[in-house]
Amino acid sequence: MSNYDYDLFVIGGGSGGVRAARIAAGYGARVGLAEEYRLGGTCVIRGCVPKKLFVYASRYADEFEDAAGYGWSVGSTKFDWPSLVAAKDKEISRLEGLYGGTLERAGVTVFGERAEFVDAHTLRLKTSGRTVTADKVLIATGGTPFVDSKLEGHELGITSNEAFHLKRLPERIVIYGGGYIAIEFAGIFAGLGVDTTIVYRGDKILRGFDDDLRDGLTTAYTKRGIKLVLGRVFTKLEKVNGRLVGHLDDGSTLEADEIMLAIGRNPNVVGLGLDAIGVERGWNGSIVVDDEQRTNVENIFAVGDVCDRFNLTPVAIAEGHAFADAQFGNNARLVSYEMIPTAVFSTPEIGTVGLGECDARERCAKLDVYKSEFRPMKATLSGRDEKMLMKLLVDGESGRVVGCHVIGEGAAEIVQMAAIALRIGVTKAQFDQTMALHPSAAEEFVTMRQKWQPVAAAAE
Ligand code: FAD
Ligand code: NDP
Repeated sequence: MSNYDYDLFVIGGGSGGVRAARIAAGYGARVGLAEEYRLGGTCVIRGCVPKKLFVYASRYADEFEDAAGYGWSVGSTKFDWPSLVAAKDKEISRLEGLYGGTLERAGVTVFGERAEFVDAHTLRLKTSGRTVTADKVLIATGGTPFVDSKLEGHELGITSNEAFHLKRLPERIVIYGGGYIAIEFAGIFAGLGVDTTIVYRGDKILRGFDDDLRDGLTTAYTKRGIKLVLGRVFTKLEKVNGRLVGHLDDGSTLEADEIMLAIGRNPNVVGLGLDAIGVERGWNGSIVVDDEQRTNVENIFAVGDVCDRFNLTPVAIAEGHAFADAQFGNNARLVSYEMIPTAVFSTPEIGTVGLGECDARERCAKLDVYKSEFRPMKATLSGRDEKMLMKLLVDGESGRVVGCHVIGEGAAEIVQMAAIALRIGVTKAQFDQTMALHPSAAEEFVTMRQKWQPVAAAAE
């Protein structure tokens, strides 16, 4: 046993920190953890979980509309934003309590305050002013919304943090950005009846995703009445006679009740005292770690969003778990970052794993594309004008499936299961040998036989 107060001190009680603390304590380590806001971190308190609850809420409008085609008369409906926020807050508090209970049962000492480095083995707890020492320190402080301080009037905008606690549902919202958060919140607000506009600097939303997903969602969002202002940036936000006005770089303006900035997130490192102890950082302050999550300072480690690699909850959890196994459980193992599935909880939803078509064409000498765009069965009676898209990318030489992409209901659920197969190197022939589950949308993946060809190539 070391002479320090703790064998491990974890800074941050989010996805990665809580998992690491709990597992390390399970191996018998003396573990302390500081959380400056609420246990559960971004995912539970103001990320994945409350977001998904809002997504569910936003989809009821479609259900009410679709029900008519199936013989139901739904009658008049009314949505109450404060009721949703209150119900969401209650559930989040319940989950926060579960996290506290788990840590307590594992024997982790939790400090509900901010921690900062004094030296590599000493931390100051900001509220109580006390210092604690630890043999190893894990930085799991996550990220914070990036607010561009160069944008005049940026303080008039809200971020995802505030979007979860708005007093009133806005009548009009402008969302700045074209990534995960912008696209998900645009779907949420539009579904709740808010007049929604997305302003994005690029020419197509969701950079980095397969182009068919990007185009498909653009079409679906446009049909849903979400306005897309592409190739534009804000030059100024201001309040004019109580109205919020956003000025764009082409001289035009947009008025809204709220302007939401969803232009990325920064690693949460400000004020931690990392410079004084010489922890190496990336261009945006992210903490540089090796395969075992170790920084350049021997006893300091980092996991999750603060490392800014794959900023997803399951990745933070996997890194936290692997760190604890290796350092306290004598079970060194590396996290695999291959075939990480991900979803955009837009409506319709996107699920994706593996390479998009552009990347796959660069990596595979020969690429076979299979895709199917169809009207989902539910839409036949409901009359909803929305297509489902399913796409498989296959390395033409090895037969391996290198990408799997879906837009439509249940996309996240379908792709989570497909990810298992892709992870272990499934081939298209093995997809073909798998019996279909009928009637389902996912069966499309095991019945695709025709290679897709671009129109020009097909005509040759
Ligand atoms: P966090 O969960 O951010 O935890 C860090 C914790 O450290 C925080 O609680 C913070 O208060 C605390 N902290 C920071 N500094 C200190 C300090 N000095 N002292 C004490 N405590 C400190 N990912 C998905 O996989 N699926 C999704 O659907 C999804 N949706 C998202 C939606 C939104 C709106 C956002 C913002 C994120 C979403 N994410 C999603 C990303 C996901 O939330 C993060 O990848 C994940 O939470 C990262 O975990 P972490 O442990 O690295 O950090
Ligand atoms: P993203 O990186 O996904 O998107 C940021 C967006 O802002 C991009 O469209 C980017 O444009 C744009 N942008 C960046 N800088 C500027 C700038 N200076 N001015 C104008 N626009 C700018 O970040 P998010 O904030 O949406 O989400 C953060 C991360 O959280 C995600 O990357 C993801 O890892 C995680 N997350 C995961 C979710 C999920 O799993 N469902 C949901 C929500 C978040 P460009 O593309 O041109 O660079």
